[in-house]
Amino acid sequence: MSVQTTPLNDTSRLCVHSITTKPWSIEIAIEQYAKAGVHGITVWRDALEGRSISVVGRQIKEAGLQVVSLCRGGFFASAEKTQRAAALEDNLRAVEEAAELGAPSIVLVPGADPRQPLEDSRTQIEEGIVKMNEAAETAGVKLSIEPLHPMYADTRSAVNTLKQANDMCERIGSANVGVAVDVYHLWWDPELQREIARSGEGGRIFAFHVCDWRSPTRDLLHDRGLMGEGCIPVSKIRAWVEQAGFNGFIEVEIFSTYYWTMDQNRFLDMILEAYKTHT
Ligand code: ZN
Repeated sequence: MSVQTTPLNDTSRLCVHSITTKPWSIEIAIEQYAKAGVHGITVWRDALEGRSISVVGRQIKEAGLQVVSLCRGGFFASAEKTQRAAALEDNLRAVEEAAELGAPSIVLVPGADPRQPLEDSRTQIEEGIVKMNEAAETAGVKLSIEPLHPMYADTRSAVNTLKQANDMCERIGSANVGVAVDVYHLWWDPELQREIARSGEGGRIFAFHVCDWRSPTRDLLHDRGLMGEGCIPVSKIRAWVEQAGFNGFIEVEIFSTYYWTMDQNRFLDMILEAYKTHT
């Protein structure tokens, strides 16, 4: 099936993750994003350290930006029971933080522990989400399961495909739990188009993250590229999520030691250009 995408010649759906411009404080990021015409911000929890979260939430609103998500909760899996309990505590705090910030959802990095089988981690992830979801539902905060590229299956995520995330959502059976589709993690999957359609049918595409896969990659965590700089068919995947009914923010999430050393205003200009041209 052929799909059409409309060009992104305006930035009304552009969201930037605070970690993308890591050298900036959250206050500077808010100010500079708004000035550049960015309309949404996904706030990473480390950016909130030492601050009143409700004040940051107000600053975002006053700047004319929308909070898209709080990033991140999760890391439910551990071979140690005390660790799992600590993770749940932390996730319950994340729910409170999201509510205080005015974030409608939390992105969940599921977690994994190399000391145990992936199946065990998956069971713990699902149990953790179910427990966290009780508080999240009450607080009016949605939970987005983000499947991660299999290269992170040892320590970051035992959920590596959108199919696994869809299956998990269906088993959990709550309208409050959905998925985050991140092109960096999922672009290689031959079942991606079908699974995106399935997420859409379930009304559970809560987030769409973009960047690019540089080839060769210099670092498996901190070398994400700007859209158009690598081999991910970003606009094709965008068409798939939109065809599945998603019309929310398109979130630029780039961790890059290379771009973090650059003048961040110049980098933000490049993000806008890449967004309009290659997304
Ligand atoms: Zn992501």
